[in-house]
Amino acid sequence: LSDRLTETFRNLRTKGKLTPADVDGTVREIRRALLDADVALTVVKDFTAKVRERALSDEVNRALNPAQQVVQIVNEELIAILGGEQRRLQFAKNPPTIIMLAGLQGSGKTTFAGKLAKQLEKDGHTPLLIAADLQRPNAVNQLQVVAEQAGAAIYAPEPGNGVGDPVRVARDGVEHARRALHDIVIIDTAGRLGVDAELMKQAADIRAATQPDEVLFVIDAMIGQDAVNTAKAFQEGVDFTGVVLSKLDGDARGGAALSVASVTGRPIIFASTGEGLDDLEPFHPDRMASRILDLGDILTLIEQAQEAFDEEEARKVAEKLATEQFTLEDFLEQMQQMRKMGSMKKMLGMLPGMGQMKQQLDDFDEREVDRTEAIIRSMTPAERRNTKLLNGSRRLRIARGAGMTVTDVNQLVQRFEQAAKMMKTVARGGVPNIPGMGAM
Ligand code: GDP
Ligand code: MG
Repeated sequence: LSDRLTETFRNLRTKGKLTPADVDGTVREIRRALLDADVALTVVKDFTAKVRERALSDEVNRALNPAQQVVQIVNEELIAILGGEQRRLQFAKNPPTIIMLAGLQGSGKTTFAGKLAKQLEKDGHTPLLIAADLQRPNAVNQLQVVAEQAGAAIYAPEPGNGVGDPVRVARDGVEHARRALHDIVIIDTAGRLGVDAELMKQAADIRAATQPDEVLFVIDAMIGQDAVNTAKAFQEGVDFTGVVLSKLDGDARGGAALSVASVTGRPIIFASTGEGLDDLEPFHPDRMASRILDLGDILTLIEQAQEAFDEEEARKVAEKLATEQFTLEDFLEQMQQMRKMGSMKKMLGMLPGMGQMKQQLDDFDEREVDRTEAIIRSMTPAERRNTKLLNGSRRLRIARGAGMTVTDVNQLVQRFEQAAKMMKTVARGGVPNIPGMGAM
């Protein structure tokens, strides 16, 4: 998957502006790449439609490098489908927290039960594993081995006593956990090789009998195209609150993750990444998106896209300042308005980021306005618009005309230039216009 996507993006990157034909070509490649990764067809269709729509929007066309924006869109949409934020286990308000596992045989439930128990023990919990898989002769034994490795307690049916009724075992196990003050219960259940009505009913019955806080659907990441049907069947038959993706250590590119998350709308909570009991990680949607896109390379592209975008923004602001220049006339107008506004200081104090301006108001001197006005009135319109014209002889002429010294004129020009700089800062920071302060 990654190679093909990387190639696609490389092609895009060499182009300047993105046309609808480019987008279609790219989307076709993304579609093929996702199908190669065993993402279900319906999911691929939804996904590519969304990417296409966004890629053709203004948002992209305004960007400096549209291709990089498309990369970013693909990444964002992948993360969105995968659940956005990382989701943690939900604990019950009143212990024990009951966690039930469901999934096909061989999906990794029993192994995950051990991994989770070990991790919870490490965090100071006292989990109890319940062996409610009575389907296979060896299943209870397997959980016993795993529990021992994890150093966790286990509740299993006595041989010959209650065997055959996993619902009762589950219920009794939860009772036992209450009495023995275990704060977490993990119920391991049976699976079949394929989806099966009887098995589904058994899982649903265990759910009804134990009222779990979390029902985790464990699915093998290598399952490929079957992921959608299996996940749907378990959602309809048992329903679940979260997903555990197992065997992510193999070749699986995460296609199943995308399919399951997209079709069920349930968050993936854990990634199981090996046979050892320590091979368990919280699932991070952003990292999985990167895994699907593979690739440092794509991530670098996304960073570059972001930088390009920032540059573009800065350029726009600079342009705006160039066309709507802040002149001495604006400066004078502002000063006159400041004089009118007694409550200005207080108001500025309440605005975030306006501390600097408030300081200037504190230094504000009423008579200053008169002097400023006198000096500016003595300038020609051209000089008012462009202080760079103000050489020595012009300054002398202005000072005489206003009845002041050249130092006074110099000080005014200096203060104006500071104010102009501040206007730029304000414009860049996006602070809204302040009533009475005139246009910025
Ligand atoms: P269950 O039937 O759902 O309880 O599945 P098991 O826990 O018995 O796992 C089935 C097989 O998959 C066992 O051989 C496990 O060692 C293996 N397995 C489980 N989880 C993982 C995993 O994350 N990575 C790998 N490589 N193997 C796993
Ligand atoms: Mg098992």
